[in-house]
Amino acid sequence: MDQHARRTRALNSRSPRSDTKFILYWMQHSQRADGNPALERAAYWANTCKLPLLVLFVVDPDYPDANLRHYTFMLQGLKETMAAVERRGAAFSLRLGKPAEIAVQVSCEAAVVVTDRGYLRHLVAWRAQLADEARCLVEMVEGDVIVPVEEASNRQETAARTFRPRVHRALPAFLDRPQAMALKCKAAGLGSKADQALDDPAAFAQALGCDASVAPVGDIEGGSKAARSRLASFLKDDLPNYDDGRADMVQRHVSVMSPYLHFGQISPLEIYHAVNDAEAKDDSRASYVEEMLVRRELAVNFVHHERNYDSFAAMPAWARETLEAHKGDPREHTYTRKDLEAGKTHDPYWNAAMREMRLTGYLHNHMRMYWGKRLIAMTNTPRTAYETALALNNKYFLDGRDANSYANIGWLFGLHDRGWPERDVFGKVRTMTASGLKRKFDIDAYVAWTERL
Ligand SMILES: Cc1cc2nc3c(=O)[nH]c(=O)nc-3n(C[C@H](O)[C@H](O)[C@H](O)COP(=O)(O)OP(=O)(O)OC[C@H]3O[C@@H](n4cnc5c(N)ncnc54)[C@H](O)[C@@H]3O)c2cc1C
Repeated sequence: MDQHARRTRALNSRSPRSDTKFILYWMQHSQRADGNPALERAAYWANTCKLPLLVLFVVDPDYPDANLRHYTFMLQGLKETMAAVERRGAAFSLRLGKPAEIAVQVSCEAAVVVTDRGYLRHLVAWRAQLADEARCLVEMVEGDVIVPVEEASNRQETAARTFRPRVHRALPAFLDRPQAMALKCKAAGLGSKADQALDDPAAFAQALGCDASVAPVGDIEGGSKAARSRLASFLKDDLPNYDDGRADMVQRHVSVMSPYLHFGQISPLEIYHAVNDAEAKDDSRASYVEEMLVRRELAVNFVHHERNYDSFAAMPAWARETLEAHKGDPREHTYTRKDLEAGKTHDPYWNAAMREMRLTGYLHNHMRMYWGKRLIAMTNTPRTAYETALALNNKYFLDGRDANSYANIGWLFGLHDRGWPERDVFGKVRTMTASGLKRKFDIDAYVAWTERL
């Protein structure tokens, strides 16, 4: 079976329908026109059935935990994707409402429906609804991981150590890039009266009536073009220092690919090849692949196998037990959610991290670790810490609400980690301290930088 066939799965047992108007690609997770295997699969069907291709995207104004910051970034990308899809001769329909319901409605006139893959609970349920209610064949193509989740491992992995050899073993079979296929039938006139125009993403997002308490960000612009331009400058200026320098929140030799990956505005396979083809020492390339392939796809493995991925109950038993045993330990300082969110604590490093996150929608990995670990010591119980960390993570980060959000908030509480020497409050769960930050980095320069934001 070829590599692309192994990314593709029929979600129902229906056949392609005849006497229909188009092939439908319901785009949801892979919000891009290039390097998108679901789009190429839909193009294949369009040419095989001699039909035009309609690409549908449904903006759900009630999408779980989404706010103005998230919508604005996503719509900036969709504007570009719409134009690129139309340049290829397909039609693009942008609708507002409940995604699965609208996809089912539109599928009534389709011979075949193709969609991409999402792993969070509601994304899985949307696809199940479409597969059940559509009257034609529905196929799903997995393009936002390099190695399809079941091909990497068919069980929930306990640590990067157990996942790493499996994903690397499967990797060579999934390195082919999807080829862009020319469409034989042009799609003029397709679409519906309910289609939306997307001239001004910021105004479109404002008009959704979503939670507007979190402002859009200026420095990280959405879209595949912005993703590629950041990737190019990362490869030139930062990849050479990635292995030694990535942990330093002042030097920041990092790629900022996570928001683009979250919205599917760039393919992880494209990043993988670009990193491997770049001029840099092997250790830097290998470290990047460790993060973007092993750690990122371990997070997908977690949400795919763990039904309660967004709950403290999903933490490993040893970690829950040790945290519960230390629940009554006195905390030096505890704060309300409001004070935490406003960055009003005794810890200037923590407050600086909270400020960066509030204002920019991004935080360097090392500061995310420090921010989350110290939250455990600044709230009354481990459960409160877990819920607070997840809520703030998903509210402020452009890359929040991702498989990575749940796995990494989990990591704060022992997920994918091992036991460490026992301490107050944290028990055997790994801790981080301000003195560690001071010893290793110019943390005061970081604080000063956040004050200028
Ligand atoms: C408490 C906490 C919360 C986090 N929340 C999120 C989140 O909501 N969304 C999110 O995408 N990431 C999250 N991360 C993981 C990581 O911090 C970010 O992916 C990374 O900082 C993004 O920046 P970058 O793209 O510049 O990273 P780079 O260092 O350039 O890494 C390249 C890519 O590798 C992946 N990656 C890097 N570090 C990790 C990691 N630790 N685990 C998994 N994948 C990784 C990301 O896809 C990233 O884009 C969190 C980490 C912690 C400790």
